[in-house]
Amino acid sequence: MIDSTIREPLHRELERWQDAGRVARLWLRDDDAIEPTAALERLIAETKNYHIPITLAVIPAFTGTPLAQRLAEEALVSVAVHGWAHHNHAGPDEKKQELGGPRLEETVLGELFEGFLKLKDLYPTRFLTMLVPPWNRIDKGLVPKLPALGFQSLSTYGRVKGKGPLAIVNTHVDLMDWHGTRGGRPMVELIGELVAELQDRFEGRSEPIGVLGHHLVHDTAAWNFLAELFEATAGHPAVEWVSAASLVQDQMSIT
Ligand SMILES: [Zn+2]
Repeated sequence: MIDSTIREPLHRELERWQDAGRVARLWLRDDDAIEPTAALERLIAETKNYHIPITLAVIPAFTGTPLAQRLAEEALVSVAVHGWAHHNHAGPDEKKQELGGPRLEETVLGELFEGFLKLKDLYPTRFLTMLVPPWNRIDKGLVPKLPALGFQSLSTYGRVKGKGPLAIVNTHVDLMDWHGTRGGRPMVELIGELVAELQDRFEGRSEPIGVLGHHLVHDTAAWNFLAELFEATAGHPAVEWVSAASLVQDQMSIT
């Protein structure tokens, strides 16, 4: 059990939305899936339990039919393209990046196209034409080339700045502490960040709020936060958990 004062700010903020007759849109992305695992089963079970749609960013190079067969009947799961092999091609002093850096543009785009086709083929009903760059990083110059490969949307991290050549559906609250403990971040911090995003949207930004998980490395703290989040938000009149597909659709119908 967590101290109720920790969850209080989220409850208060959602109450404010409810009193104003407004509904916040949340969506869930989880990265690095390759094959069925116990952690994936847990993620699927928990999201299903609350009827929350989820987008799995799957690494094309290393995945195959076992995962596709496992997800075939999971109507709430959609599959996005997580780069090609999740390999780092950045220099030793640079931030990790697969999509860009010193390699030829056509090499990178060729891999992305291969990944796109492979997942499209593996997931005839679950495939989303969305690119999720590994480490949420992609060279700016590659983005205008993505629609020609078939991508209709891009998902990285942080609030969206400006418009691009394709729909952008980003994440904003990352469960993991990558640079410190490499475990789940403290509940109080994650709730604070989610509340800050909600306050920002209340002031008028229409962008939905993306929550980012990495099921393979979730520890107790990360699972606890998800459980707390689902419990507080699923079925709440001020919250709608939406699928990435519908968020992409929204943007395409506006532009
Ligand atoms: Zn990743």
